[in-house]
Amino acid sequence: MARPPKFSNIRDPSTPPRLLVGASLRMTKNFMLVFSAITPHPPILIPTVGQENLKAIKKTFNSMQQLTEDLYSLKPDVIIIISPHGEVQANKITINQSPILKANFNQFGDLITSLKWRGDPGMAYKIYMHFESNEPMNLIQEEQLDHGVSVPLYYLAQNLKNVKIVPLNYSAQDHQTHFEFGKKLQEIIQESNQRVAVIASGDLSHSLTADAPAGYSSQGKKFDKKIVDSIKKKKYQDIIKMDEKLVNQAAECGMRSICILLGVIDGIDLNSKVLSYEGPFGVGYLVAEFV
Ligand SMILES: [Zn+2]
Repeated sequence: MARPPKFSNIRDPSTPPRLLVGASLRMTKNFMLVFSAITPHPPILIPTVGQENLKAIKKTFNSMQQLTEDLYSLKPDVIIIISPHGEVQANKITINQSPILKANFNQFGDLITSLKWRGDPGMAYKIYMHFESNEPMNLIQEEQLDHGVSVPLYYLAQNLKNVKIVPLNYSAQDHQTHFEFGKKLQEIIQESNQRVAVIASGDLSHSLTADAPAGYSSQGKKFDKKIVDSIKKKKYQDIIKMDEKLVNQAAECGMRSICILLGVIDGIDLNSKVLSYEGPFGVGYLVAEFV
């Protein structure tokens, strides 16, 4: 089985982890949300898939390494990761309670890499039950992870041997609904006795250039700039309330993942850090962390 590469700046697991200042503050406040971030999920981030193309997204690659190091030092028990590319239902957010989760990149030409993590059926069921009476969720057991989960986890969970993963897929509902869902998810996380990381997996516009996957739209750059600026300035409501037409024309996949995450961190005193943004292949890749 091919293992993910070891990065030189990843600490030896035997050395005591450094706790981030933000993390220790959050611990004293008894928040069990220890990490929150936005990541892209281009398969070319996987070295065996991207090969030469990986050089063109060096900023994203470096940011993913930074996030990997930050997450490692925070010792999460559970990673909740929101992906656009699994089962997406019209009116129900989907939660995966499979005890075993597997990733490969066969569909992108890498027939060798094969990764496996534990799921957290207990946590998944708890979330499912919490929403049961008001806005029922779609509960599934799916071992095979989509690339919206597996690409970020290839980096972030590479050295977290005991971490458990809870994959979520957003629905086709509006942004506000996803934001509200995130706020309730925050309550569950805060009541939990586990150290929880939440990752919003999503790419921004797929219309940045003439050869972009969704074709060129002038709205692509506008959308991406608005997302990046709003995160930098912590004007999160500007994202939730963004014009639907602009969002549609941008041909994004990350918007609803981000809306859930913004709900998860709502009201918590965190700073936003945009680690990188680039779009050399016509798709916007944003890496951001809230610390
Ligand atoms: Zn996507």
